[in-house]
Amino acid sequence: MDNDARINGDRLLADLADLARIGATPEGGVHRPALSEADLEARRWFRARAEEAGLSAQQDGIGNISVTLPHPSSEARTVMVGSHLDSVINGGRYDGALGVIAALEVLRTIREADHQPLCCHLEAISFADEEGRWGSFMGSRALAGRLTIDDFEHSRGGKEALLAEMQAAGLTVDGALASRRDPATIKAWVEPHIEQGSQLEEAGLPIGIVTGIVGIAAYWLTFKGRADHGGTTPLDRRADALRGVAEFVRQARELVLNRFPGGVTNCGIVEVSPGVFNIVPERARLALEFRHPDQQLLEAMREALLNLALHVVEIEGLGLEVEQVGMEAPATMDREIIDAINAACQVLGLRHRHLASYAGHDTQVMAGITQAGMFFVPSVGGTSHNPHELTRDDDCINAANVLLHTVLKLASEP
Ligand SMILES: [Zn+2]
Repeated sequence: MDNDARINGDRLLADLADLARIGATPEGGVHRPALSEADLEARRWFRARAEEAGLSAQQDGIGNISVTLPHPSSEARTVMVGSHLDSVINGGRYDGALGVIAALEVLRTIREADHQPLCCHLEAISFADEEGRWGSFMGSRALAGRLTIDDFEHSRGGKEALLAEMQAAGLTVDGALASRRDPATIKAWVEPHIEQGSQLEEAGLPIGIVTGIVGIAAYWLTFKGRADHGGTTPLDRRADALRGVAEFVRQARELVLNRFPGGVTNCGIVEVSPGVFNIVPERARLALEFRHPDQQLLEAMREALLNLALHVVEIEGLGLEVEQVGMEAPATMDREIIDAINAACQVLGLRHRHLASYAGHDTQVMAGITQAGMFFVPSVGGTSHNPHELTRDDDCINAANVLLHTVLKLASEP
């Protein structure tokens, strides 16, 4: 097997189309939330396709599906590749699915080829619940040994509902907690994915090599004013909590644009109380989230945004309560994996650029236990988490070929 090796593009595209029928929606997308009937059917489909190709497939205790091409030596380490088969509510047919199908196609291609034996086990995996219906990255965190009983007690989708759906799928909490794998047995992790943005399309480039995945911080900011009559209180004597939010939202955007290139911020929820026509808002609670690929700059953004909130409440004569509700550190992609993806692009004559991922992925969890990397192929119009999500056929084929050559390189040494 050499530089001329290529995956079977027709088979890859046929599988993508076949998988898109599971949970298909009228607008052309898919609806496969984790543990839904469609998600379980997609898992069964993946196992069956692998077994038809002579590969073995297993499910672990959290519901990750692994397809393996073993090395004769049990001492060998594993090169793992893949993504996820679940989708958001009314999502698209490429997010996650492309990475899983590309991983399966790479294992099939290597199995069929006449080549020198590689030095590693190969594994194509579909992680359970990547989209966070029940919790964040449940499948990869279980594998990384980061899942705890709290993830079930305080599941985002409700404990009772989660336990009922796990039971229906033949899964148990004990089994899920026992899904940890020994990091010493894993050599590397690579995830191909659609970009979900428009940088590659705008630059006319087929491949984006991810250098880092953003860190995400989330806060509730509560601006506290005074409830007064909305008609009789003079405008200049009001302590209007919502006015504080409005000033903050406007200035936060300017601050990030001007001082933190590469950073983004979002204010996604405002809850106003008492919330009536004729009372000045006494409290306004704002959901603030911000992201940056660099840990130090994420910290600096945090300080600057919280200082801005303090500055605004001082000017507006308000009080402030700050509650942190999440902090996920940025993940840096491994140099050796970036080089291997780079070399694969070279072999295939595909131009590429380096970029950061502003969406979360299982790769950030895997980066905590092994050398990890990921790459993107273009999303038409940057559209994603939407039934109109589209990645062109040639780009899907490129994804699988880049993965093939990346795996051949990584697995050529023990
Ligand atoms: Zn995804």
